[in-house]
Amino acid sequence: MHIGPVVDLRNYKEYYERFARDLGSEPRCMEFHIINSDLTQDLNAKMKGINEFLRDKNVAVSFHCPDHPLNDLTKTRLENKNPDYNKLTILFDALQEIKQKKFLVMHQGFIANKSEIEAMNIEELIELKKTIKNIASKEMNILKSKLDENTEILLEQSPVFAGANKLVHITDQCLEDFANRPFRMVQDISHIALLVSYFQQNKITDLKNKSVIGKMTEQSEARDINEQSKGIALNWMEALKKEYNGLPSSLNSIEEYLKLAKDKTAWFHLSDANGIYVTNEGLIIGAEKSTINWKSIVELIKNKEFGVLEIIGCEKDYTRIQKSLKYLKISCPQLFTQQS
Ligand SMILES: [Zn+2]
Repeated sequence: MHIGPVVDLRNYKEYYERFARDLGSEPRCMEFHIINSDLTQDLNAKMKGINEFLRDKNVAVSFHCPDHPLNDLTKTRLENKNPDYNKLTILFDALQEIKQKKFLVMHQGFIANKSEIEAMNIEELIELKKTIKNIASKEMNILKSKLDENTEILLEQSPVFAGANKLVHITDQCLEDFANRPFRMVQDISHIALLVSYFQQNKITDLKNKSVIGKMTEQSEARDINEQSKGIALNWMEALKKEYNGLPSSLNSIEEYLKLAKDKTAWFHLSDANGIYVTNEGLIIGAEKSTINWKSIVELIKNKEFGVLEIIGCEKDYTRIQKSLKYLKISCPQLFTQQS
């Protein structure tokens, strides 16, 4: 796999140079994170600059679309209003300045207020999710038609929470949610880990409840279960079990998700995770209490082409990328055998 950095419009030249030094060769992929405040008329000129920069390099690029304009589209449709494409049009026009093939990473999953979602029963929630998925697929066709033929949209799966855990993602989590959509995907290892962890803490709670009722648990087992059991039930996650007649297969383990998604995957986001909340995602690889078995993940992904180190806060602190790269180089050298 080729490993690359996540950069932004301000730091990309510097990060490219630093990453090349740390990697020992020029990176062959990188991802530009575009934020809301980048969506101004200056974006065209900035993209021209990036195109110049890329010209003498052999680097695959992706651009991460900000989530808010996408979410706003779905929201206005839900309210039966006409959506405003202005912000996204700025991005799409500017992307035409990038002459090589590029990916556009989109998080189409719908973000809602946690309190509003929690007030719904599971049936209402499933209905809402169906409506949102319908709107989202229509929107995606509209958006696709506004892009040039050099741009491939990649969909990314959503984690459990958003914002400061006061917002939640209610669609686009398990792989099964993407099955009938004509787009390839970005697999975000950290997001998958959060989703899988939710159902694992859930299983522990289920087991605890069962064993208390059955009164047949060994003492030590009961203690282990008690210690680990901080299980919570979240209705937007529990809804998945109802929608798919039980836990969707992809959420059994990170490994299972990746195996099932093999042919649909074009790009990876790599970072660590150690729980289910916002603060547990996007961590420096090698994080304490990590819920990701990197050795087994690397075996599954090493022959894929591209993975970028998407560590939260890396736009201000390059060392987060540097530390993650160092961890992978030492612990999982086989990840780099394709690198040349
Ligand atoms: Zn990601």
